[in-house]
Amino acid sequence: SRALGSLGQSRAKFISAEERTGVTFDDFAGQEYIKKELQEIVRILKNDDEFQDKGIYCPKGVLLHGPPGTGKTLLAKAIAGEAGLPFFAANGTDFVEMFVGVAASRVKDLFGNARSFSPSIIFIDEIDAIGSKRGGPDIGGGGAEREQGLLQILTEMDGFKVSTAQVLVIGATNRLDILDPALLRKGRFDKIIRVGLPSEDGRYAILKVHARNKFFRSEEEKHTLLKEISEQTEDFTGAELQNILNEAGILTARKDLDYIGRDELLEALKRQKGTFETGQEDSTDIPEELKLRLAYREAAVAVLACYFPEPHRPFVETDISSIRSQPNMRYTEISGQVFARKSDYINSIVRACAPRVIEEEMFGIDNMCWISAKATLEASRRAEFLILQTGMTAFGKAYYKNYSDLVPNLAMKLEALRDEYMRYATEKCSSVLQEYHLAVETITDILLEKGKIQAEEIWDIYKSAPRVAQPPVSP
Ligand code: ADP
Repeated sequence: SRALGSLGQSRAKFISAEERTGVTFDDFAGQEYIKKELQEIVRILKNDDEFQDKGIYCPKGVLLHGPPGTGKTLLAKAIAGEAGLPFFAANGTDFVEMFVGVAASRVKDLFGNARSFSPSIIFIDEIDAIGSKRGGPDIGGGGAEREQGLLQILTEMDGFKVSTAQVLVIGATNRLDILDPALLRKGRFDKIIRVGLPSEDGRYAILKVHARNKFFRSEEEKHTLLKEISEQTEDFTGAELQNILNEAGILTARKDLDYIGRDELLEALKRQKGTFETGQEDSTDIPEELKLRLAYREAAVAVLACYFPEPHRPFVETDISSIRSQPNMRYTEISGQVFARKSDYINSIVRACAPRVIEEEMFGIDNMCWISAKATLEASRRAEFLILQTGMTAFGKAYYKNYSDLVPNLAMKLEALRDEYMRYATEKCSSVLQEYHLAVETITDILLEKGKIQAEEIWDIYKSAPRVAQPPVSP
């Protein structure tokens, strides 16, 4: 018999396993036709024998494609939830991130795990990270490594027979165009479903789903307010709509009000629009002030990359030609075994603070914008990872899967320790940026003038710029 109880603790840490996702199609709103198609698949999964007698088989693979935040993961979980099947999830980037030679064996682990609990669902998010076109441009590096992983996926999918011992593989990507055509062939991901941005009605329906557990003065007022928001949110994704409601809830609580009102919703909408990524690619369209901020951000990231160089991932160049909420700096591919010590983790937290620290120093804390948001998130995540999952800090020798596993008492301890690390990281980062202030300015000037700068030039400037001595920062 299968030890379902052990599902949550998959030996392979990159796989997250759930015996029951608890998600249903009711949790996904808008684009009803997608649900219809997937409901069909669920029906086959549940009544395998009956359909097989009629010669109808479940597809082996379903590929969901569309922009991030449109509910692809949610749909995959809903399929598992509706069919009552265990859910095994991994991210395409997990297969190629750390050690060379690991991709294929990780794919084997994933499929092996899922097969031992079949019928079951495998979900591979960002499948393009491992399944991009062979021989094409090597985006993100790790070409040969990826190819091994991709071949292994193909082997696994071809390997299992269309029979009762089903494993349905669901892939998600926002880059259908770069996927290797071999993945899309018959008997592999032969059901391709586009998950697009919701329409106005769809947005209303999504808002309603996420308003289920929120308080409004009355049903009528809720209806009017959500209608108003759905009219003003063209091009928003489901995830962003959910954020608006959550943010409105937080504002409401902060003001000590009992119900979410129009003011809170509009304020939340404004905030969400502020963090909206423009996706503009052409730097000529970027407003001057934003260009200046981008240039300072990249310069700060560059100086920190020189100060704490990452031996396994040397940087190549950086530019100010796209606006994203994470740095534009590009690195070479990761190769060889990564041997990271505690100090390496801490230095990486310091590095990740650069965008936030420089923006605050140059533009003032009340005048910040969203271009350092992702980096700050990255810094906090790293600190949390170091504290919870490495056993290298004073937090203890235990391993915690994530923050939500913690009882309140431990959560407070974690927060105190994380604040401690973040304090050190921002202070250290600030001290490095002041010491190398002239290098930052020089790199910023070059970025503003030429739009980009190569690693060699960054290193030359870093090594030759006069430094301003700083007092030591205590950990
Ligand atoms: P993706 O996998 O496409 O990046 P996710 O499934 O992770 O998107 O979406 C993140 C969250 O946004 C979901 O967990 C859900 O709460 C919300 N969401 C996104 N799309 C929808 C939708 N169509 N209906 C309801 N909620 C949605």
